[in-house]
Amino acid sequence: MLKKKNLIFLGAPGAGKGTISNVLIAKYGVAHISTGDILRAEVAKGTPAGKEAAVIMKAGKLVPDELVCSMVKNRLAEPDCEKGFILDGFPRTIPQADRLAAVLAELGKEIDYAIYLKVEDEVLLQRLTARLNCRGCDAIYNKLFMPPKTEGICDKCGSELFQRADDSLETAKNRLSVFHQQTQPLIDYYEQRGLLYTCKSTGKDAIVAELAGILE
Ligand code: AMP
Repeated sequence: MLKKKNLIFLGAPGAGKGTISNVLIAKYGVAHISTGDILRAEVAKGTPAGKEAAVIMKAGKLVPDELVCSMVKNRLAEPDCEKGFILDGFPRTIPQADRLAAVLAELGKEIDYAIYLKVEDEVLLQRLTARLNCRGCDAIYNKLFMPPKTEGICDKCGSELFQRADDSLETAKNRLSVFHQQTQPLIDYYEQRGLLYTCKSTGKDAIVAELAGILE
């Protein structure tokens, strides 16, 4: 039984937010709200929002708060979020966190934990530049640490694996510096509100077991 169900995952790109989210969603049936995934879908569809976001994402910068905040507001109002939700990659700035608080108050919801996955920059860069994503499902692999059984093919659905355009070394470095400048202040923000939980474990299974201890 899940006692704490409305979660934010905080962490630099490559910290494992998507990987751990995927496990918790399967385990607890909560909704996954990844602003990166939503934006990539908009880019793939070629919508006006997608066209605006594509250039910014390729450079490793943040898309305007207004754009992501309205996407998250709509998503949080969907019925599947009643069971709980994981915000993965949002908020990333203090104004986004303030907007989120206002939206949640309007919807009569609140955050139970902001979970911080802390990982050193060196490890993050290694992970990001070796990361592989599945075109068919949300599975995430890593050429070095978590390779697929057959090169280039997803173990789970058999689709092709690809490297995200923003996982090149140069863009990954930009994304880490954006994290330190704009997103790291959120650690204090949520600590001051008594919501921060910093994960002590490393490795997928250990993190999932540690989180079960605080969520169930
Ligand atoms: P992610 O998949 O979370 O690493 O996000 C990929 C890219 O999408 C980021 O580098 C940003 O360009 C954009 N993005 C995702 N979430 C946000 C957000 N909350 N605010 C601004 N930009 C975002």
